[in-house]
Amino acid sequence: MASKKAHRGSGIAAGALAAIIVANAGAGGPYYVLALLAALAGRWGGTAPDWMEIAWWRSKKKYRGAARLWIKHRTVTHWGIPWVTLLIYSYVSLNSVWWAPVAFGFACGGMMHLLTDWPNPMGVPWIWRRHSLSMWRSGRLESMVIVLSWLGCGLFADLFLAHGANTVRLFEFVAASV
Ligand SMILES: [Zn+2]
Repeated sequence: MASKKAHRGSGIAAGALAAIIVANAGAGGPYYVLALLAALAGRWGGTAPDWMEIAWWRSKKKYRGAARLWIKHRTVTHWGIPWVTLLIYSYVSLNSVWWAPVAFGFACGGMMHLLTDWPNPMGVPWIWRRHSLSMWRSGRLESMVIVLSWLGCGLFADLFLAHGANTVRLFEFVAASV
């Protein structure tokens, strides 16, 4: 797995993105409470596929590593289909069900988790078998994972809200300065 720290950092990015999308859809609720909850849920969802497989009721002292898991590592909790389903379902329900913004934030975090686990050799079972981009090993390049996740979310937010206008401006700015 990418480390907990990397998942937390990228989960916060996913939560921020979710909050922007929720607010933009007019589903932020009074004082943007629901948008804020979506952001928190994103952080929580960012680590979810890993904590959901831990049998927290088994004592930490007696059970270590794989023995403390009740779901095999990177199996059902890392399965792409349920996460994508939750993402789409909560998105289309944003303005009709009160908990949809929170579920949407959680799903954004979970998707981010799968994306950040994907490049390392163990891979992620998106549809059926595990697939890996085989780019780096667990726990390596952590800060890059976090930075990339924020850049990705920023780009996505810009594409979504301003059709990429800010990104184009940024490139123009960079091109003009070099
Ligand atoms: Zn994981």
